[in-house]
Amino acid sequence: ASMRENRIEKTKTVCTYCGVGCAFDVWTKDRQVLKVEPQTEAPANGISTCVKGKFGWDFVNSEERLEKPLIREGDAFREAEWDEAYDLIERKFNEEKEKNGPDGLAFITSSKCTNEDSYVMQKLSRAVIGTNNVDNCSRYCQSPATMGLWRTVGYGGDSGSITDIEKAELVIIAGSNTDESHPVLATRVKRAQKLHGQKVIVSDLRKNGMADRADQFVQPAGGTDLVWVSAVTKYMIDQGWHDQSFVDEHVNYFEEFKESLEPYTLEYAEKVSGLTKEEMIEIATSIYHAETTCFLWAMGITQHGGGSDTSTAISNLMLVTGNYMKPGAGTYPLRGHNNVQGASDFGSMPDRFPGYEYVTDDDVRARYEKGWGVELPTEKGLNNHEMVDAIHDGNLNVLYLKGEEMGIVDSNANYVQSALEKLDFFVVQDIFFSKTAEQADVVLPASPSFEKEGTFVNTERRFQRLYQVFDPLGDSKPDWQIIMEIANRFGADWNYGNPGEIMDEVASLCPMFAGVSYDRLEGYDSLQWPVAEDGTDTPLLFEKEFPFPDGKARLYPVDWTPPLDMGEEYDLHVNNGRLLEHFHEGNLTYKVPGITKKTPSVFLEVSPELAEERGVEDGTLVRLTSPHGHVKVPCVVTDRVKGKELYLPMNDTGEGAINYLTSSHADKDTDTPAYKEVSAKMEILEQK
Ligand code: SF4
Repeated sequence: ASMRENRIEKTKTVCTYCGVGCAFDVWTKDRQVLKVEPQTEAPANGISTCVKGKFGWDFVNSEERLEKPLIREGDAFREAEWDEAYDLIERKFNEEKEKNGPDGLAFITSSKCTNEDSYVMQKLSRAVIGTNNVDNCSRYCQSPATMGLWRTVGYGGDSGSITDIEKAELVIIAGSNTDESHPVLATRVKRAQKLHGQKVIVSDLRKNGMADRADQFVQPAGGTDLVWVSAVTKYMIDQGWHDQSFVDEHVNYFEEFKESLEPYTLEYAEKVSGLTKEEMIEIATSIYHAETTCFLWAMGITQHGGGSDTSTAISNLMLVTGNYMKPGAGTYPLRGHNNVQGASDFGSMPDRFPGYEYVTDDDVRARYEKGWGVELPTEKGLNNHEMVDAIHDGNLNVLYLKGEEMGIVDSNANYVQSALEKLDFFVVQDIFFSKTAEQADVVLPASPSFEKEGTFVNTERRFQRLYQVFDPLGDSKPDWQIIMEIANRFGADWNYGNPGEIMDEVASLCPMFAGVSYDRLEGYDSLQWPVAEDGTDTPLLFEKEFPFPDGKARLYPVDWTPPLDMGEEYDLHVNNGRLLEHFHEGNLTYKVPGITKKTPSVFLEVSPELAEERGVEDGTLVRLTSPHGHVKVPCVVTDRVKGKELYLPMNDTGEGAINYLTSSHADKDTDTPAYKEVSAKMEILEQK
């Protein structure tokens, strides 16, 4: 620290909030942030940032930061030294291993952390403890999008770059509150609208900021997107508006797919989704006339019982209309966290090694066994949704959770919290004493992005380096270092001197990242995966072929899964999403006084019609009750929502936390919770 005293420094970093991946210089003096200055050479954002990237950094110096390990004693915690905390972890992990084998333990990494942190976490789980029970929170958001793309085009990533979206003639945005959730990306769309008349179609339950500016805005019934997307696809094929030459050259199973669309007539889709025939024909016409179409989507599509299928239907539509293999076209699932893409890319998944190779593939496993010098488990492990059930069933007793407010952000919070209560031993590693940490046995103090080196992968598959701005606060340490020290307690002999050495190891083992190195990521340099050994990267994901053995994409027939019905009593649908100023449950942004002053808490959006009927006004305090719990929130009356549709931002860890209402119902293909399928009844508690 002494070297840095009284000096003004400039350090390049990458935003720790959303998946856009804005990079910028941060000017500091001692531990004070003087300003954040984006640079033209920043690949995703150029000279833009949003309010969070610009002003959202006070949490780093918050007095609430954890500075020492904590060990539970009865109902309280006491401070401890690292060695004592490690001793306890070593003893408890070994006890569980002896009693129930390695599968009695599980590991959850964080999408806030770096790729290197994610890599060592899954290595600890697999190579040191011996279990594939490892996952990350992309299970809560975009796994269905990844699944839909794997099925159809072979890679689960955005087709091109964020700057490509600007080139599209038509952008379709479905189930995404883009200008609050991915603000700088939304700015690019707004600019393209202005500069070259880009056409925008928005489909959402709620009239969000993008809908205000759209050329066409449609409001389907919740959870029915697959139906209208498939109807538009069928209509276009029936009209001969699809791209037959692209299909002939690059796509398999067209005939089977065409047949599978039989039920999706415009009449049927109108009945189910509420979109009129005219609206669907207008969408089809726009796609037909556009040279290039980009389809953007987020949690409004994925967090449903059929989230993977809807994502598949979107990719099917882009395939039959030839909207792949050119800049300004393709599929863009918008990743939520800064590193939700990277956490999965680097193998924190129960069935995949880094680069999405299967743990059940003997050749791949043999490569890692050789590289790591150990024998590895052969069966796929539990995902984080299954982990909760396994704890309740007594099959999982020890959990190591890193950088995740699991008790609040996992759906059906009461059920999750009661599971965490049952654990024999629970390690939480975080920068704050989170709500979830209250249930821990040991709490380990980690360092946030400003206090470590590493890389993130943003939504466009782009690797970017972050450089250390401050020294770790107190006794806190970078996550990779804590994990390495724990691994070495179990006889591993890891001696990474810095995260660059971890990246070198990944590059040597994982073909998808073969050419990634810190040298190639100096400053604002970046690489988009896959990266060949010679350093050639892939801004456009599909250029001449799709990554299947014959080079052709696969149309994949899907059926519609109706959304969950919670029963007549729960008569209001509670949609949920983000606010611009806060991020997720708000553990970081509520510790930034400037932001919290502006937006101190969440509020429930109520339509004017419903407000009139129920006697709700701005500020009325209500209780919402679902079969799984209840929340207490003040209301705001707004025409952004209509009829019996409510909207509750997810940014709360207290009495307004949405996941006290959500259920354990999940996407049937990925176990991503159906966060968007929740209904509740409303009672007035207090008028303002
Ligand atoms: Fe950029 Fe997202 Fe950070 Fe805002 S939150 S500065 S859009 S990366």
